[in-house]
Amino acid sequence: MRGLAVAMLEARDFAAETSSRSSKLIHGGLRYLPQFQFRLVRNALRERERLRRLTAPHLVRPVRFLFPLYRGRGFGRGRMVAGLFLYDLFARIPRSERHRSLSAEEVLELEPMLAGEGLAGGATYCDAWADDARITLENVLDAALHGAAVANYASVEGFSRMGGRLGAASVRDRLSGRGFEVRARLFVNAAGPWVDDVRRMEDRAVAPCIRLTKGVHLVFPRERLPVRESLVLSDDRDRIVFVMPHGRYVLVGTTDTDFAGDPAVVAADRGDVQYLLDVLGQTLRGAVPGAADVASSFAGLRALVTTSASRAPSSVPREEVLLDSDAGMITVAGGKLTTHREIAEKVVNHALKKLGRAGGKSPTAITPLPGARPLQAGDPSAAKALQGLDPITREILDSRYGSRAVRVAAIIAGHPALAAPLAEGCSAVAGEVLHAIRDEMACSLADFMVRRTSLVWRAPLEAVAAAPAAASLMARELGWDRAREEAEVRDFIHDMQRRRSP
Ligand SMILES: Cc1cc2nc3c(=O)[nH]c(=O)nc-3n(C[C@H](O)[C@H](O)[C@H](O)COP(=O)(O)OP(=O)(O)OC[C@H]3O[C@@H](n4cnc5c(N)ncnc54)[C@H](O)[C@@H]3O)c2cc1C
Repeated sequence: MRGLAVAMLEARDFAAETSSRSSKLIHGGLRYLPQFQFRLVRNALRERERLRRLTAPHLVRPVRFLFPLYRGRGFGRGRMVAGLFLYDLFARIPRSERHRSLSAEEVLELEPMLAGEGLAGGATYCDAWADDARITLENVLDAALHGAAVANYASVEGFSRMGGRLGAASVRDRLSGRGFEVRARLFVNAAGPWVDDVRRMEDRAVAPCIRLTKGVHLVFPRERLPVRESLVLSDDRDRIVFVMPHGRYVLVGTTDTDFAGDPAVVAADRGDVQYLLDVLGQTLRGAVPGAADVASSFAGLRALVTTSASRAPSSVPREEVLLDSDAGMITVAGGKLTTHREIAEKVVNHALKKLGRAGGKSPTAITPLPGARPLQAGDPSAAKALQGLDPITREILDSRYGSRAVRVAAIIAGHPALAAPLAEGCSAVAGEVLHAIRDEMACSLADFMVRRTSLVWRAPLEAVAAAPAAASLMARELGWDRAREEAEVRDFIHDMQRRRSP
């Protein structure tokens, strides 16, 4: 896009780590206002509006949150109203979307599941959510469409130097086991929870720049947590926990605790589950769910820029930092998914400066992601195939792929049986499996279930039922033998069991 020749290497699948394990909010972060992180909130809200209205409207959806206020807990009314006023102001949203203060009666009318005792009123406000893995993937696809070489399952294992500066990365293809080298004039380390590991590949003695904290989300069937609204609840130390209904399931999260283990095996544990159940139990009435009702869970690691180890995890600033190494590596650490575009722009500006190149102004602020771009005049039969799909399937494809839904439709057009759901009630159709392999670089069943369709949290029970059909299609497309196909299903089911019983 700005004249650089770029290669992007991902050790696992695209978005396999933090970027598929977030709260899925494209937001300013209301909770950062009391910490006076105004710049972060303002920039994030600007990015939210950009994504929602221009660059990714097919992926980023508005969501109305109900924020109940309880006496002696959470934000006080004054703080909440001031915070929401600033939030709307920074976002520059139309009047119809601005926050609204509510009495206790109005809050209960909107959400009868909330406990009435101690309820002092509340407010509604507008934010947005998105499928985090697909936003990440669309950025990767866009990079490839603009000429970058992109590879998943390609792990950087070390660097070699030329004249004191980093000259090449040693890379391992994790699927074939083969090694190769990528030469470059400049390296950018955006390895999330592993940024310090990559920095140590250059300088073994370098001091860490990040601190990891774990965030866990639980997924409940809607009938076990029949909330009507998306809710902002508070624990007894004023930490915010979101409750977000998505179709037939409800997402609840998150936690924020220091993490010192292996980042590759982060998962929810019983303490995380109990914490979230306690918050639900303190604020909701009726039969609140228990641990046995968890349908799925996921855990991610925040890579927070090191400030003070004694600060509570929730109060560590979330803004990103760029670090330059002696041998010419740029490390980017911290930040939010919401501000990914702005962070990338800063990194590229910095890289251009270091390379002594002009590059011009970044066009990403006004360039829609691939699924938000108008259709090229392509195969008319594909567009016709899309029209011919039943409205529910069409809606699923539109919301997942935007204008690229025609690519799935083109696959289905040749084989109408591929329009069938992968299992009863499953919100993914068979044709999507082939599309994920052919157009989106999916290599395993988990790539499809976890990152391409998010079925693991959007429809976890249906995902288990759909696994054999999806694996069978993958086996045919990728030439897997029977043993590989069975292993893929077994590993996926095992992962789902682990997610259900943390
Ligand atoms: C619980 C939780 C909730 C969150 N909620 C939100 C939210 O609602 N909204 C929001 O805006 N932000 C949220 N965030 C923050 C957001 O998810 C992160 O800022 C973002 O996903 C970080 O992306 P990243 O690319 O830096 O890290 P990652 O997504 O972790 O990507 C780093 C990648 O580097 C790869 N890698 C590591 N080592 C190597 C190597 N040697 N070679 C090649 N590749 C390597 C890894 O495999 C990994 O995929 C949340 C974070 C957490 C943990």
